[in-house]
Amino acid sequence: MGFEETVETHFPGAMRSSDYIQRTSEALHGYGFHATNAIVCASVCRDELTRNLIEEIEKAWTHVFDFSSLAGMLYLGKTGFKTASHHSPNEDGEERVVYFAFPHISIDAEGVIGNCYRSGRKDVSHACGALFGLQKELANGSITLDFDSDDIELSLLKQRMLKKIRYGEVPDLVTLTKIAHSAIREDLERMIYLTVNNDPVSYAVFTGVQIHGPDNQTWIWTDTPYVVVKDDLEKLTKLNVMPKPLLVA
Ligand SMILES: [Zn+2]
Repeated sequence: MGFEETVETHFPGAMRSSDYIQRTSEALHGYGFHATNAIVCASVCRDELTRNLIEEIEKAWTHVFDFSSLAGMLYLGKTGFKTASHHSPNEDGEERVVYFAFPHISIDAEGVIGNCYRSGRKDVSHACGALFGLQKELANGSITLDFDSDDIELSLLKQRMLKKIRYGEVPDLVTLTKIAHSAIREDLERMIYLTVNNDPVSYAVFTGVQIHGPDNQTWIWTDTPYVVVKDDLEKLTKLNVMPKPLLVA
């Protein structure tokens, strides 16, 4: 099974990141979000492989606040969320925030999950390296859970992930990546609730998984996106403004 078949098997409906950014931008235009009148908060893994998605977001949006941490987890806390929302342009009297958040996974040309090749390096590499390492620890049955102040982000990642994994369970890398996505989405929604929910701020939520394929391809598998215009929660799905593939959860 090659790359595209493997993507379709595990991440049905995934699309190229350029299509994804274009479709999400067009959908938001219908709600009054435009390139220059919103702050975009984007979280991906720190891995350099993820940067082309950030670059595509930066081409579509003028103001981009980087939320990224290891594995795409959201560790910037209420202070970071509040700071970002206070950077929203407001010359027209409105404030708008767009949230993008993605863990990531690589799939090589042969469809091997977790494998990738990095330019300038001879051997096979892995993404997400942090989740790949956690999967190995779980498979070996020996996981270090002590909080290490010299390894803060990995310590937090393990603590957060283990809350979502049943004792003795050993998820494969695809499952672990989807667990990371659900943790990120929960944390994102909790932080929105704690920071902007009571403010007159319109916002949109886009989460999913960033998939690295051969030849630097980036694909996006998406969970249901939505936009909140003031207090009015409108699922984009209900309004059918997003093309079908984007709606596959
Ligand atoms: Zn990573």
